[in-house]
Amino acid sequence: MIKVNGFAAHEPKGKLQKFQYELPEIGLEEVDIKVAYCGLCHSDLSMLNNDWDMTQFPFVPGHEIVGEVINAGSRVKGIKVGDKVGLSWFSQSCMHCQQCMSGSQQLCASSEQTLVGRHGGFADTVRGHWSWVINLPGNMDLAKAGPLLCAGMTVFHPIILENVRAIDKVGVIGIGGLGHLAIKFLKHWGCEVVAFSSNKSKHDEIKSMGASRVVDSTNIEELQTVAGQLNFILNTAHVSLDWDTYINCLAPKGKLHTVGIIPEPMSIPSFSLINGQKSVAGSPGGGPALIKTMLDFCVRHNIYPITEEFAMENVNEAIKHLEDGKARYRIVLKV
Ligand code: NAP
Ligand code: ZN
Repeated sequence: MIKVNGFAAHEPKGKLQKFQYELPEIGLEEVDIKVAYCGLCHSDLSMLNNDWDMTQFPFVPGHEIVGEVINAGSRVKGIKVGDKVGLSWFSQSCMHCQQCMSGSQQLCASSEQTLVGRHGGFADTVRGHWSWVINLPGNMDLAKAGPLLCAGMTVFHPIILENVRAIDKVGVIGIGGLGHLAIKFLKHWGCEVVAFSSNKSKHDEIKSMGASRVVDSTNIEELQTVAGQLNFILNTAHVSLDWDTYINCLAPKGKLHTVGIIPEPMSIPSFSLINGQKSVAGSPGGGPALIKTMLDFCVRHNIYPITEEFAMENVNEAIKHLEDGKARYRIVLKV
């Protein structure tokens, strides 16, 4: 039995308060991590607000976790006590279904999500199955690694899924935690990147991340200046935008891919897709092998998030900062 000190909300939109709980005896294939840092993702906020109708209270958020292994079951593979590791949105999958066996563990029907029906990383200890506990590259700064695990992986995955090529001209909508990492990945991929942002005060910084141009994401006339130009657009915004105008920004055979979780249905006329053979898709983060590949890519190209650090004690202040749209560009909580 392990006593855990975390921060939990007891109702939707509630303030997080100190909260103690116990983890049962560790399982044979489980790993306990002493949390050093945890990123604050917009999904933590949506879960706190119970926007997706799946939050259980008391609710301990947190799924961009980095720390050190303090305990490992006897059948754990590839991870040992003392290792510096990360854990993200998923913390377990069955490891024998078709999806798990083909390397798409994120699609396992019985996967466990780190903050759904169990307690997440806004705590001093968190538990995961060895397969989802990722050894961090030796030279990676722990204070910067957390956001790569969810935000980074979520935007890296579509680049692979949609076969984005170095010669492509691409767009990224919403330059927050996910979006700013998407610009960095796509720039290093070799693409020309157009950023779509609703916030003028971010424009200079967005260019220094690697975007060649910044377009107001909410201004239809400005969007029309990009008509027919982009092979791939990645949406990371969590709001409804004029999707048909974005489809019109795609070149023939172009793809609009959303990882941003939009509350309303996306309304897209079928002719906008049919003429020009365009498509719309979405995806969650990728499986453990792809997370490792993404981390290697980050080390090779020196890709890290731009972060603002808050002490875990000040988690409510950090959440308000994100909610007010002031985060630049990812908040990381230090335990
Ligand atoms: P974030 O840091 O808050 O960034 C979201 C960005 O959306 C903002 O920075 C802003 O960019 C833009 N935005 C906000 N309000 C807007 C408005 N009214 N009009 C136009 N643009 C607006 O959030 P995040 O952590 O990057 O997460 C983004 C989304 O991805 C969330 O929905 C989150 O739940 C989702 N997510 C999905 C997955 C997955 O597996 N698919 C994983 C992680 C997160 P500008 O200021 O540049 O306009
Ligand atoms: Zn996340």
